Amino acid sequence: MAQAADTERTDRSEESERRARAHEVRRQVAVATRMLVDAGILGYSGHLSARAPGDERLYIQPVDDSRASLRPERVLLVSFDGEVVEGKGKPPSELPIHAELYRARPDVGAVAHFHHDPTTMFTMVEHGAIVPVKNHASRWADGVPVHPDASHIATAEQGRALAATLGGAAAALLRGHGEVVVAEDVLTLFADVVHFVENADALAHAMQLGRVVPLGREECDRFLATFRRDRHARKLWNHHASVALGSGSILPEWLDAEAAPADGGAPARSLRGSR
Ligand SMILES: [Zn+2]
Repeated sequence: MAQAADTERTDRSEESERRARAHEVRRQVAVATRMLVDAGILGYSGHLSARAPGDERLYIQPVDDSRASLRPERVLLVSFDGEVVEGKGKPPSELPIHAELYRARPDVGAVAHFHHDPTTMFTMVEHGAIVPVKNHASRWADGVPVHPDASHIATAEQGRALAATLGGAAAALLRGHGEVVVAEDVLTLFADVVHFVENADALAHAMQLGRVVPLGREECDRFLATFRRDRHARKLWNHHASVALGSGSILPEWLDAEAAPADGGAPARSLRGSR
């Protein structure tokens, strides 16, 4: 009897832990999405996802919800095969990007797919490889593969082909289409997306000044040797969250205590407009 009661208590605490974690991940997906809209990286399309621990499931926004007004409670829990497990609405048609990258890469906990034209332009010219020119782009020192399929990645087969192009890399370009960036969790993903676009922007400008001299492997390794990835991701998150709180893009209760700006951020106003 005592053993049965213990098992029940363990089940209950595991379930409440799962719910707390799900709540946190939904908030992170919504906050990151809105902050990437504010940064001009996400527009009317594109999406972030987070792997749900333990199962072949992921958290992702509904296809038609505006990225500028996504709320945490709207974020869906979806199986890798596209079945909605929790929430109302349909997942994005490019769900196979996320599902197949998680299947192929057990190390990946969060995926971003976006259509940022100034970055995608590197797939539109000869010799348009993205190389690291800024130190934070050291993560992509081994190169950024370009996926040749310019259509929407709407089937599992297309998703698997994209996963094959990505291989062990941390980002890929999709020809004439957009980008995918992968990371271990939503906070590091957010920082990676910001730095990926910053590097592409700096590279495009540098190409107009003269012959580009990219950072070499050794320079990247020296940077990475002292780089505290988790701490930096949190610093970037806190900065963008502080700005978003001040402008009314997000609500303070969507930030967990750890991720909230230490000083409480800019004076919080109510959520802007229909957000
Ligand atoms: Zn797309």
